[in-house]
Amino acid sequence: MVKIATLCGDGISPEIVDATCAVIEAVKAYHKLDIALSHRNVGFHALKEHGVTITPEVIEHVQTCDGFILGPVSHNAYPPREEGGLNPSGELRRALTLYANIRPARSRANIPPKAGMPIDIVVVRENTEGFYADRNMHFGQADMLVTEDVAVSMRRITRSASIKIARQAFDLATTRSGRVTAVHKANVLRQSCGLFLSCCREVAVDYPQITYKEELVDAMAAHLVRAPQEHDVIVTTNMFGDIISDLAAELSGSLGLGASLNSGRDHAMAQAQHGSAPDIAGQGIANPSSLIGSTAMLFHWLGQKHNCPEFQTAAAQIDGALESVLSDPAKRTRDLGGPLGTEAFTDALITALGHD
Ligand code: NAD
Repeated sequence: MVKIATLCGDGISPEIVDATCAVIEAVKAYHKLDIALSHRNVGFHALKEHGVTITPEVIEHVQTCDGFILGPVSHNAYPPREEGGLNPSGELRRALTLYANIRPARSRANIPPKAGMPIDIVVVRENTEGFYADRNMHFGQADMLVTEDVAVSMRRITRSASIKIARQAFDLATTRSGRVTAVHKANVLRQSCGLFLSCCREVAVDYPQITYKEELVDAMAAHLVRAPQEHDVIVTTNMFGDIISDLAAELSGSLGLGASLNSGRDHAMAQAQHGSAPDIAGQGIANPSSLIGSTAMLFHWLGQKHNCPEFQTAAAQIDGALESVLSDPAKRTRDLGGPLGTEAFTDALITALGHD
């Protein structure tokens, strides 16, 4: 039996997590998959009930699962940590050592890419350190007020995390077009980006069949707009990866389509690239494609890890159904100019699953 947990967060989370569960139930029935789904709340619900936005019980529970799905959370609106406002995403990535955030950006049929040309890129983002104050110290935050008028944020880069993320990128490139670009800012962050780059170069030696190059992050932003086809797998540190992947997803058509998987050696977490969209929460108009696409990535990961080809078949079926529904303007949600709400879109997707 494969145990999968869903963690419902804030804003549009209930709508898109429900849609994702409906799709899981459908593929489970098609492929007779032995899946046990469990559900937990994080975010404001958990804060109200338990005084903290993610409880230790939730973290312990997902550690017993084979994979889990995190709905978006409104962490920007949370109270300070001391008052229970933890970022569930950061807590989970760190507690379960989900060191790789894999973010594909691929244009879809009949959705014009904003880059003016098709995009097919994967950003491999280090997920456990970097300029993320909630995950780079053993205890405490690396974001501090020195005086009332002076703030300091520290960035931690380690050799072990850089080697691990570089290997992940090169392994992925062997299954794609064989190109890796390391993105950095070593001209000013000489020590930390310098260490990251030296690890990428060391790993590159073990993959002579892969074409390896390096780009400064500011130049990379321009290259992605001008000539995205020159890149395939992009490996980078945490914050650069967060920003570059949103740019790539939007250029491919829409950030709302960007799937994302956070993976480590033993666990994986599906998570939409976008946030909790509080401006449209509760209206039934959210696009669930990103979370559903992320769940397909989780199924693919589970299939590889547990050597279960039926999970990989289910992942391909979900991807195929998304491709087919999104290619029809009459079956899109409003953010993509279509007429459908979340439930009607999910129904169309489930119907398409049956035709695949
Ligand atoms: P956002 O991604 O939530 O929304 C940006 C815009 O995109 C909004 O206009 C929103 O309506 C729209 N949008 C986003 N997802 C959509 C969807 N699935 N369907 C249709 N439209 C969609 O970004 P934001 O407004 O800057 O952030 C809101 C909250 O989300 C903040 O508290 C932020 O901290 C949090 N956030 C969470 C995550 C996460 O949980 N992984 C990621 C980013 C931001």
